[in-house]
Amino acid sequence: MTDKPKRNFRPATQLVHAGTERSPFGETSEALFLTQGFVYENAEAAVARFNGEDPGFIYSRYANPTTNMFEKRMCALEGAEEARATASGMAAVAAAILCQVKAGDHVISARAVFGSCNYIVETLLPRYGVEISIIDGSKLENWQAATRPNTKVMFLESPSNPTLEVIDIAKVAEIANSVGAKLIVDNVFATPLFQKPLQLGAHIVVYSATKHIDGQGRCLGGLVLSDREWIENEFQEYFRHTGPGLSPFNSWIMLKSLETMPVRIKQQAHSARALADFLAEQNAVSKVIYPGRADHPQADIIARQMSGGSTMIALELKGGRKAAFEFENALEVIRISNNLGDAKSLITHPATTTHKNLTDEARLEQNISEGLLRLSVGLEDTDDLLEDVAEALKAIK
Ligand SMILES: *Cc1c(COP(=O)(O)O)cnc(C)c1O
Repeated sequence: MTDKPKRNFRPATQLVHAGTERSPFGETSEALFLTQGFVYENAEAAVARFNGEDPGFIYSRYANPTTNMFEKRMCALEGAEEARATASGMAAVAAAILCQVKAGDHVISARAVFGSCNYIVETLLPRYGVEISIIDGSKLENWQAATRPNTKVMFLESPSNPTLEVIDIAKVAEIANSVGAKLIVDNVFATPLFQKPLQLGAHIVVYSATKHIDGQGRCLGGLVLSDREWIENEFQEYFRHTGPGLSPFNSWIMLKSLETMPVRIKQQAHSARALADFLAEQNAVSKVIYPGRADHPQADIIARQMSGGSTMIALELKGGRKAAFEFENALEVIRISNNLGDAKSLITHPATTTHKNLTDEARLEQNISEGLLRLSVGLEDTDDLLEDVAEALKAIK
């Protein structure tokens, strides 16, 4: 039994119902199929399954009914034809890139990406003979200038971690198309609600579902979404034989999390906006970067490609590292952590944690100063968060 949409339902409705596949028991809540394999009625049925004449399941490394529901629900939200869920965001990024490159190909990546994504491009790909260019992705001319006849993949993150810089996805997609390359967008910071890279012309969108999709700090997970042709012809064999798929248990958690995602993200973005506006008025604060505020350096691009603000804020304190630590240590509601997209508000000092391995020069280039903090806004009461921040600012000497 399948819940088939009769009309084009709105996202919140899709996230409760899309992809639901009921067992013969007719359960209300989606079932958890915690199974490795599947049995066949007879030998002929196994043959049909293996020949692809019967589309059923074979082995949970390839596909699983619970994981399938999660993938279908994400497809409905993203407007993608196909998706594969992976064990982590990094499994998604690695698979999306590695499945389609070979020695002699060329990959272009923006510099301001999640640290492990940078490792895949800058360290791993050259080991296998893939040429790479790492560019300042905020300047469109850099993408054009970096293209080569063998450019196969372009990779970017927008808004970027941790400074919430934005890249014009539609324009980069045009450049990718003009050289026959595939554009992969890491859409974690935007969330699937506020930005639709596939509609903007990107070919592949990847997520760390660990962040807003789980949204409650429990399971790691990831997703690769694209058109059917690319998933079937370029991605599926790699996925099936290298085994990065998400476990059915974690898929079930993610599937159920999607039901509440719009409510959560709306509330988190509401609080984030209030906090960003408050912080921007404070003397101790030299800079607030929040997608959705008119003073964001790329507010014009945001107006074109994002439908909502963000749950993330980048703020810079005038007193450098000393002030940043005094502020962090005085917070009572907001906790210090490197994670993000959680129901709990979390704050990070990138220069000494997530981005400590960059050279001083590279940090400077990415505007990661000693006074920079990245704040992931959670589901606590907005006023408690505002009071927490106001009190902690008083602790800066
Ligand atoms: C967290 C994150 C990743 C990696 O995801 P994991 O689930 O931790 O593997 C990739 N990209 C971005 C932007 C992230 O925030």
